[in-house]
Amino acid sequence: MSALFDQLVRRIQLDGPLSLADYMAQVLTDPHLGYYSRQQADGKDPFGRRGDFITAPEISQMFGELLGLWCADCWVNLGAPPRVILAELGPGRGTLMADLLRAAKGVPAFLAALEIHLVEVSPSLRRRQAQALGDLEVTWHDSVDQLPTSAPLLLLANEFFDALPIHQYQRTRQGWAERRIGINDAGTELVFGLAAAVPGNRLLGLPPADIGAVAELCPAGNAIAQAIGQRLAAQGGAALIVDYGYLKTQAGDSLQALRAHRYHPVLRDPGSADITAHVNFQALAEAAQAGGARPLPPVTQGEFLTHLGLDQRASQLIAQATASQAKDIAEARKRLTGDAEMGRLFKVLALTTSDGPDLAGFPTSQDPGETQATPKNNPG
Ligand code: SAH
Repeated sequence: MSALFDQLVRRIQLDGPLSLADYMAQVLTDPHLGYYSRQQADGKDPFGRRGDFITAPEISQMFGELLGLWCADCWVNLGAPPRVILAELGPGRGTLMADLLRAAKGVPAFLAALEIHLVEVSPSLRRRQAQALGDLEVTWHDSVDQLPTSAPLLLLANEFFDALPIHQYQRTRQGWAERRIGINDAGTELVFGLAAAVPGNRLLGLPPADIGAVAELCPAGNAIAQAIGQRLAAQGGAALIVDYGYLKTQAGDSLQALRAHRYHPVLRDPGSADITAHVNFQALAEAAQAGGARPLPPVTQGEFLTHLGLDQRASQLIAQATASQAKDIAEARKRLTGDAEMGRLFKVLALTTSDGPDLAGFPTSQDPGETQATPKNNPG
């Protein structure tokens, strides 16, 4: 058994069964043994074909380039301030930021105004990001609260919120009961159990649901969304949250672990697989609004990238590519925007301020009827 397993067992023996959120936090972000911090001997990290999962910036440079143009457009609409804080949450390998900055070279005054700030818990991924960004001046932080307040903020988060710890509750005849993690009698395996139910049918933030249903809450994600909302209200700027998830609060067990691109049991070999849950965009938007930001109705990743010109950028790259590169670019375009791939499952939530500008890729307030997400995007 691994050192992380032993630590979890000792913690459970001392404190009793863990919430899923405590388990996820330790398993994913323990600074030495956590999934995101582990530096394998061969330098392998969680991303890409050789890793456990692949994200949009790792699929194609076009993703980061288009987000770079989105940021430059925001900056122009903010009145081209002489300084702007460009922050990314959970930058992974640093690929998105590197592609974004390359595209931003097309708008030199924007590039000159940028101060780059990365929020990252994993020491090994910080090193990886430093390599990707070369000589650029970059500041790392442990949390959103440490970002500077002295200039408008442009903030990006791609597949960050899905990695944050969630709580799960099961609806029983007695009320909602939290799912907790204990140890089997032999002391050899971690197992799920249920805590005592909270009497009554309602628990703050959980949807109405039938007996047996599971529902999830992500207080850590909501607190970060609220903090971003407060920052935007105080500093001005905009934020873009891209992730997979659902538009309306709903019941459902969305917890999953991935290892080498395959599903893996969530409690087996802790620290060896990525654990994520679908993001509740309604909860994030409400939290950001409570913080003082103006959330725009989310659009799908497919709609967003297509609005920003993904097809044109793909054609431009294909025109200069070899036949095999051209095939890869066409495949990447389809993977990012296809309805059966990332295009519909992934959503984009933009946050701005009450007096903030319209944001590229989102229906403007002058487009009646388009300001609500269309029913086809709503799984609920
Ligand atoms: N945005 C990247 C990586 C996504 S994986 C991409 O799209 O490829 C999630 C990232 O968030 C990793 O960099 C991970 O180390 C970081 N992370 C996870 N939990 C975090 C937390 N609580 N605080 C800061 N960073 C976190």
